[in-house]
Amino acid sequence: MLTKRFNLLFDRLLRKTWTEEQINKYIGVFKRCYFTYATDTSLRERSASGGSVTAMLAYMLQNKMIGGAVVVRSVVQEGNKVRPEFFIAQTVEELKSAQGSKYSAVYFSSQAIPLIKDFGRPVAVVALPCDTRILRQAMRHDLALQQNVKLIITLFCGHNSEPELTDHVVKKLQPDDHPLVEYLYRIGHWRGQLQATYEGNQVVTKPFTYFSNYQNLFFFAQRKCHHCYDHTGYYGDISAGDIWSLRMKNEPIKHTAIITRSAVGDQLVAEMFEKGILTGQEASISEVCDGQARILPAHYNISARSKLNWLTKERIKDPVKEKVRLHDYIVAALNLFNERLSRTTRGRKIIFATPKPLIRLYLVFIKFLESF
Ligand SMILES: Cc1cc2nc3c(=O)[nH]c(=O)nc-3n(C[C@H](O)[C@H](O)[C@H](O)COP(=O)(O)OP(=O)(O)OC[C@H]3O[C@@H](n4cnc5c(N)ncnc54)[C@H](O)[C@@H]3O)c2cc1C
Ligand code: SF4
Repeated sequence: MLTKRFNLLFDRLLRKTWTEEQINKYIGVFKRCYFTYATDTSLRERSASGGSVTAMLAYMLQNKMIGGAVVVRSVVQEGNKVRPEFFIAQTVEELKSAQGSKYSAVYFSSQAIPLIKDFGRPVAVVALPCDTRILRQAMRHDLALQQNVKLIITLFCGHNSEPELTDHVVKKLQPDDHPLVEYLYRIGHWRGQLQATYEGNQVVTKPFTYFSNYQNLFFFAQRKCHHCYDHTGYYGDISAGDIWSLRMKNEPIKHTAIITRSAVGDQLVAEMFEKGILTGQEASISEVCDGQARILPAHYNISARSKLNWLTKERIKDPVKEKVRLHDYIVAALNLFNERLSRTTRGRKIIFATPKPLIRLYLVFIKFLESF
């Protein structure tokens, strides 16, 4: 009870006022926002957030608006390597098998676009902001693609990671060299848990922070993410992400934040609410921003990363010309440094030899800087 009150109090204290200019920059064009979850509990068992993305895809499939949905499942290769793989789900069971976020590099242009072209029937697509942009560009030049892509659901994205980080975690958790059968990056409420299942039905569960502390520090980050400032998916019909506002910790069911952007996306979500397939309520855009309060400005501030080109030789272009303060420089420099460190053999040794509490402390320090 006391914790719940504490969460509510801090939630109120941490709320920010988001100006129209900030909303334009961080969110872009939008129609409405919602905090939602899938009413069907079976769609929430393996979901990343409230299972709303899968509920939308299932609704479209069941109502024959699409013949399939382009989603990503994890496959295990060589006994212990987890790799994401695009495929077209044509049943609700297949959609469920692909639930959850895959924090490992995906190859949209070479894998997903050929799948859509070969399928030749209407699809909905789940994609990261960068891949949504690629798809929209491809659709401009390809009429068949334009006609068959009925809806794009874009996931919010802080950044993605190289597969080596997952490989390390899987290996570390592996009991007696048992081959891996299944790996779920994050399930459950709030920050969630990771779950690795090894042969002989040996299930290992750890707090998601076991993986995310390294991920959030940009160790093993994909390089392209330094060049990106689109956190919420400007080009999706619908964007979907988490809500990290403290009051949501009190909710018994985890929610998905939804932003509708196009008429098609807006109508779909309204219809699903009306029919009770999605549960929740309409939210303000400020509430969505509050749920991403630290990361939104930091991700958008590509200017800080660009101004460090002289140091990193990364040649990051700066289309946004954001103001860069001292703490923005420090956060950008540390993230760039961490990514580089994790690419060297010596760096990897240092990272994984560092005691976990120190890694956590380092992350708290960067998050503290991001809060200003
Ligand atoms: C790399 C990555 C980074 C993210 N960063 C943030 C963040 O910083 N802040 C935030 O609020 N949310 C972030 N998200 C989104 C968040 O984790 C949830 O995916 C989102 O809230 C939807 O949850 P859900 O329960 O409604 O979706 P679910 O019902 O679990 O469905 C998720 C769908 O996304 C598909 N999918 C999973 N991984 C990928 C991928 N890599 N590329 C394309 N499709 C994929 C799945 O196949 C599934 O169809 C990120 C997701 C990913 C994959
Ligand atoms: S941060 Fe940007 S570039 Fe990196 S995976 Fe996410 S959307 Fe793509």
